[in-house]
Amino acid sequence: MAWDVLTDEQREIRELVRTLARERVAPRAAEIDESHEFPWDIVELFREHEIFGLLFDEEHGGSGTGTLLALVAIEEVSKVCATSGLLLAVQELGSLGLKLAGSQAQKEAYLPRLASGEWLPAYALTEAGSGSDSAAMRTTAVRDGDEYVLNGSKRFITNAGVANLYTVFAKTDPDGGHAGISAFLVESDAPGFAVARLEPKMGISGSTTGELTFDDCRIPAANLLGEEGEGFKIAMRILDRSRPGVAAQALGIAQGATDYALEYAKTRETMGKPIAQHQLIQAKLADMETETEAARGLLYRFGQMCDAGIDGAELTKASAQAKLKCGDVAMWVATEAVQILGGYGYIKEYPVERFMRDAKITQIYEGTQEVQRLVIAREMLRESRAFLLAGVG
Ligand SMILES: Cc1cc2nc3c(=O)[nH]c(=O)nc-3n(C[C@H](O)[C@H](O)[C@H](O)COP(=O)(O)OP(=O)(O)OC[C@H]3O[C@@H](n4cnc5c(N)ncnc54)[C@H](O)[C@@H]3O)c2cc1C
Repeated sequence: MAWDVLTDEQREIRELVRTLARERVAPRAAEIDESHEFPWDIVELFREHEIFGLLFDEEHGGSGTGTLLALVAIEEVSKVCATSGLLLAVQELGSLGLKLAGSQAQKEAYLPRLASGEWLPAYALTEAGSGSDSAAMRTTAVRDGDEYVLNGSKRFITNAGVANLYTVFAKTDPDGGHAGISAFLVESDAPGFAVARLEPKMGISGSTTGELTFDDCRIPAANLLGEEGEGFKIAMRILDRSRPGVAAQALGIAQGATDYALEYAKTRETMGKPIAQHQLIQAKLADMETETEAARGLLYRFGQMCDAGIDGAELTKASAQAKLKCGDVAMWVATEAVQILGGYGYIKEYPVERFMRDAKITQIYEGTQEVQRLVIAREMLRESRAFLLAGVG
């Protein structure tokens, strides 16, 4: 058996997810991509096999098996279908506000339903005029007795229209900059809440991406997450822990594309031999495998750090590094896989063109690659490496 960082128990669970992915998800992947329909059957499959539970602790109905294994599960599913992998990543993204800042009562009310997959969540930070610059958001929330009244809109929200619970960020103090933002839990049947439209996309076609509107939307004051003014901090802490979910999706795409290209190269013949025997193709395969393994190293390190209880600046940097590396590797590897298949790589009969379209989003959402670099550099600038200069000069 190949060397592995996972324990025996983790390996067993990975095997279960891998088998489900290969036998039940893979045969649906092309159809999901072509139909652009949200894959409720895959949600049902994950519910039945308690796959959503891998993202939650035992206290709230999950398996309590930790972050590393959750990332491995997203990777395994994304090897065959990035839209289905995203179902898991967003279950985490949309639940993290509760996990990190929820009161006991809020956790008890919602986390078990999210752990079973009965409810799907969403995370609503982005607006038409504020993506990378999230503090520029314009949605407002005003306290009115026992309620908050929300007005504004959110754009590009994954799981729009299928989620039961939205973590929504809004300004409680419009002049307060970062400190004027608060976080709220909004149920999908809240009065004044609506999904205005869904966006057609380049990839991850089965996932819904939509616009949310809040028109005097009233929610109980008890649905404030944390304290007023803590929203920006909560949003960033969530992203520290959710970005690796995107990295895992990207890693799965990279490995899936590599595996497919390898098998194809063994059977496609040119100039009297399988293309896998041409050294230029071998070089591509070797680089794809090596880059993917390097990306995996950064991602699994993040999972191990989380499971060891590490938090703060060190985790922020590790998270951004994993997202940056895995996203870039996925895009590059998927493009190389298309090249290895030649003309066949470009047509829809083969999955690598889907991998290539799906890979692109991993360089954009949950913070673009440029934003990841800003985060990594910011953390580097805080670190002291003065000893390196000791012998210089
Ligand atoms: C399919 C999809 C799903 C999404 N899901 C969600 C979701 O569930 N929840 C949610 O809240 N959002 C979601 N988003 C939004 C996504 O996170 C944003 O699109 C992303 O953060 C970029 O924001 P923007 O599109 O406004 O681009 P902009 O912020 O306008 O950036 C445009 C370009 O400028 C670069 N740039 C911006 N600022 C800087 C800077 N300071 N230095 C250098 N370069 C910079 C960016 O990297 C990018 O290349 C989703 C988007 C898509 C497409």
